Amino acid sequence: MNIPVPGKRVLVTGGSRGIGRAVALGLAAGGADVAVCHRQAGPAADSLARELKDIGGDHLVVRADVGRPGDVEDLLGACRDRWGALDAVVCNAGTISHLPFAQLPRAEWDRTLATNLTGTFSVVQGALPLLSPGASLVLIGSKAAAVGVPLRAHYTATKSALTGFARSLCKELGPQGVRVNVLAPGIIDTQELTAEQTRRYESLISLRRLGGPEEIAHVVAFLVSDLSSYLTGETINVDGGT
Ligand code: NDP
Repeated sequence: MNIPVPGKRVLVTGGSRGIGRAVALGLAAGGADVAVCHRQAGPAADSLARELKDIGGDHLVVRADVGRPGDVEDLLGACRDRWGALDAVVCNAGTISHLPFAQLPRAEWDRTLATNLTGTFSVVQGALPLLSPGASLVLIGSKAAAVGVPLRAHYTATKSALTGFARSLCKELGPQGVRVNVLAPGIIDTQELTAEQTRRYESLISLRRLGGPEEIAHVVAFLVSDLSSYLTGETINVDGGT
């Protein structure tokens, strides 16, 4: 079952694996044309391109690191050349590492910000001239930002920032009909976890299970679709009740 998004032209960052991949495939199955970027060439990106082709539609799979302004420029240029405009942008590309703050190298702080926060800035600001009236911006945050998690101060700092960014941006862009929301996933089974870690996480979740990437993709599709036409400036937790 897919939320209908017929004819929407959507850019999804970080879509060769995990949540971004489920988002891209779900949107394509709902009738959207999707441009997906990923960082590394390889089997994940190749199989995504094949799956999108099988679904049908006018799709693009592009290698671009959102932390590199030149790559973002090229990515948005490819969308402009192909479609002339974008109806939605899903800023999903993100990176995470687990390090005690006292030992966090400055370079790791900078790397995390460059992808999760500055990457979002570059993609959103670069996409502005392409946005169609009524366009939707969806930023993938994290429930971890609201609750706090040890060893992830750098990661949660970037994800918390997205909430303030979206709240301010919705006020600037609302008069042009552009909506901006954050979707904050809980623990989704894209991560490599030991059986013990899985059990511990499950015990913290009301639904007693990790989320699937498709369960995030459904809510993203709702935010991209016109069904959410009066929803902006919000951070929506999709976390099974944690
Ligand atoms: P994955 O690590 O499974 O996939 C990340 C995807 O993003 C890959 O396709 C990767 O491509 C791409 N990517 C990473 N860095 C960049 C970059 N700089 N430029 C372009 N593409 C990039 O991540 P998840 O699916 O688990 O997470 C997706 C988003 O959801 C992230 O923002 C994450 O913080 C957030 N999130 C995830 C949760 C979870 O439990 N999984 C929980 C809460 C939030 P490549 O392989 O080529 O590097």
